[in-house]
Amino acid sequence: MIIHDLLILGGGLAGMRAALEAGKNVDVAVISKVHPLRSHSGAAQGGIASVLDRSQEIGDSLESHIKDTIKGSDYLGDQDAIEILCNEAPGDIRILDRMGALFSRTGEGLIAQRDFGGHSYARTCYASDKTGHILLQTLYEQMMKHNVKVYPEWHVVSLITHENTCRGLVAYDMARGELQVFRAKAIVFATGGYGRAYGITSNAHANTGDGLALAYRAGVPLQDMEFVQFHPTGLYRHGILITEGARGEGGYLINNDGERFMERYAPNTMELASRDIVSRAVQTEIDEGRGIDGYVHLDLRHLGKELIMSRLSQIHDIVLSFSGIDCTRYPIPIQPTAHYSMGGIPADAYGRVPDIDGLFAAGECACVSVHGANRLGGNSLLETIVFGRRAGITASEYVKKTTLRPMPPDTLPLVEHEINLMMNGKGKENAADIRMQLQSNMILKCGIFRDIDGLTHMQQLIIALKERFNNIGFRDRGMTFNTELVEALELKNMLDFSETIVAGAMAREESRGAHARTDFLMRDDEHWMKHTLAYRGEQGPVLDYKPVTMTRYGPQRRMY
Ligand SMILES: Cc1cc2nc3c(=O)[nH]c(=O)nc-3n(C[C@H](O)[C@H](O)[C@H](O)COP(=O)(O)OP(=O)(O)OC[C@H]3O[C@@H](n4cnc5c(N)ncnc54)[C@H](O)[C@@H]3O)c2cc1C
Repeated sequence: MIIHDLLILGGGLAGMRAALEAGKNVDVAVISKVHPLRSHSGAAQGGIASVLDRSQEIGDSLESHIKDTIKGSDYLGDQDAIEILCNEAPGDIRILDRMGALFSRTGEGLIAQRDFGGHSYARTCYASDKTGHILLQTLYEQMMKHNVKVYPEWHVVSLITHENTCRGLVAYDMARGELQVFRAKAIVFATGGYGRAYGITSNAHANTGDGLALAYRAGVPLQDMEFVQFHPTGLYRHGILITEGARGEGGYLINNDGERFMERYAPNTMELASRDIVSRAVQTEIDEGRGIDGYVHLDLRHLGKELIMSRLSQIHDIVLSFSGIDCTRYPIPIQPTAHYSMGGIPADAYGRVPDIDGLFAAGECACVSVHGANRLGGNSLLETIVFGRRAGITASEYVKKTTLRPMPPDTLPLVEHEINLMMNGKGKENAADIRMQLQSNMILKCGIFRDIDGLTHMQQLIIALKERFNNIGFRDRGMTFNTELVEALELKNMLDFSETIVAGAMAREESRGAHARTDFLMRDDEHWMKHTLAYRGEQGPVLDYKPVTMTRYGPQRRMY
C-alpha cells in the first residue's frame, strides 16, 4: 500500500499544474499511465488564448474574450466560470513565461499572438506550432525541480470511494506486473479526453476517457457528454490534427470546384468561424458531393515557404510524413476529426466534484463548464493551466484540514478478482474487433450529425458490444507489461462512457454547438438551456439536468 496526502491522477498539463501548486504545501504524487511527457497535452499545436497587455492596442479586452467564449459555447457555458478563465489567463501566461516557456516573440520581444476561430482578436499565444510540447516540458522541469513524486506507467483501474468520500485508487504497475492500492486524503482527476472512442480522431491512443468511466462507476454523474467537438481539419484518413493556427495564419478551405466554400456558411469570419460551424460546413461539402474522394483541401501555398517553415513547420512535417505531400507546393487533404470532449466530470470553479467529498477534477476530463456546447481553440490549454492551478490550491487546502480515512475492506481482492475473471475466462471474443465496431459506428451514428434512428441503433449496438466484452479471450495471461490487459480495461471504459454520450444526444431534441440533430435543427432555449447529468443506472444511464449559470449575457442568435 502506498500513501500520499494528495494524489493527482494524470501527468498532462492539468495534472502537472495542479501538482506544482499543491506540492508547495502538502505531500503530493502524480500517477500517469504514460510517462507525463507523452501525455496528449504535448500534441497541442496552435496555442493558448489570453488577452495580454499589448492586446489593448488592437482593441482587445478581457470582456471580449469572455463574450467570445460564451458565444462560442452556444450559451451553454457557465458564465461565472468563463469569467474566471478569461480574467485569470494573463496572470497564468506570465507565470508560464517566467517558468521559462519558450513562447514565440514579436520583433519587440513581446509574446506573439495569432488569430484563432471564434476569437474576435489575435489573442492566441503560441510557441511555433508546438505549444503543448513546450508547456509540457516546462511544467515537467518544474516538477523535477520541486521533487514531485511521479509514478509513470501506472495504469489506474479503480477509484475507491466510501460513504461519498474519496478513499484512494487501485493501480496496475505495468513494469512490475502488480496491482497496488494508493491511499490519500484527496484525489485530483486530470485524465484528459476520450477521442479514441471515435474511429477518426486527433487524439493520442491513451485518450480513452478512463477517468470519466472510473468516476461514473463510483457514482459521479457525467455532465454534457453529448457535446463532442470535431475539429474541421484532420489529415484525411489519419485524423491527425492540422492546427487551427494554419487557418489563423491565413490558410483557406477549398472544395472540388476550387471554391472557398466558407463564404456560404460564415460570410464574415470565413475559415475562422467557430469549430462546430466549420466542421459541419466541411462535412456538408463532402456529403453533398463537392469534396474530393471524401475530403476537401486546406490550402497553405499562398502563405509562402518561409512563413510555413517558421510558424507551421510541424504541420509541414506531419503532412509530408503521413501523406507524402509537400504543403508548400500542394493543398492538404482534410476531413473533420473527433478532437475534444466538452463534457466530463462535473467540477466547480475550484475543481471540487459535487457528489464526492475529497474528489477534484481539472483539465479536459472535467466539465466546469467553460466550453458549454462548443469550445473555442486555445481555451483548452488555458483551462488546464487556470483550473489545474485552482484545483491544486483547493485540494491542498482540503488535505490540510482532513485526516486519512480508512479504505473499505477487501478493496484489493475485489479488483484482483475482477481482473482475474476477465483474463482467465474461456471467451473467444476479440477486444480489438469490439473496439473497432465501437469506433467506426460512433463516427457514423453519433458524430457531427445525429438523428434518432442512428442514435437508437448506436445505443443498441453498445449494449451488444458490452455483452461481447464479457466474453473476451486473452492470449497473454502474464502480468508484466500486459498491453492486452491495458487495452481491455480501456475498451471497458470507452463502452461505459460512450453510452452516456449516446443517451444525452438522444434526449437532447435540439441542435446546439457541436450537437447537431438533423431531426431537430434549431436551438431550443426554452426547453434545453440546461446541462445534462448522466448517472449510472442498472439499465444504463439515467439522465437528470441542472441549470446553466448566466451572469450578464442572455442567449442570442449565433452568427459568424
Ligand atoms: C492534437 C491536439 C492538438 C491540440 N491543440 C490545442 C491547442 O493548440 N490549444 C488548445 O487550447 N487546446 C488544444 N488541444 C486540446 C488540449 O491539448 C487538451 O484538451 C489538453 O492538453 C488536455 O490536457 P489534460 O492535462 O487535461 O490531459 P492530457 O494531457 O490528455 O493528460 C491526461 C493524463 O492522464 C493520464 N491518465 C489517463 N488515464 C489514466 C489511467 N487510467 N491511469 C493513469 N493515468 C491515466 C495520462 O497518462 C496523461 O498523463 C489539442 C488537442 C489535441 C488532441
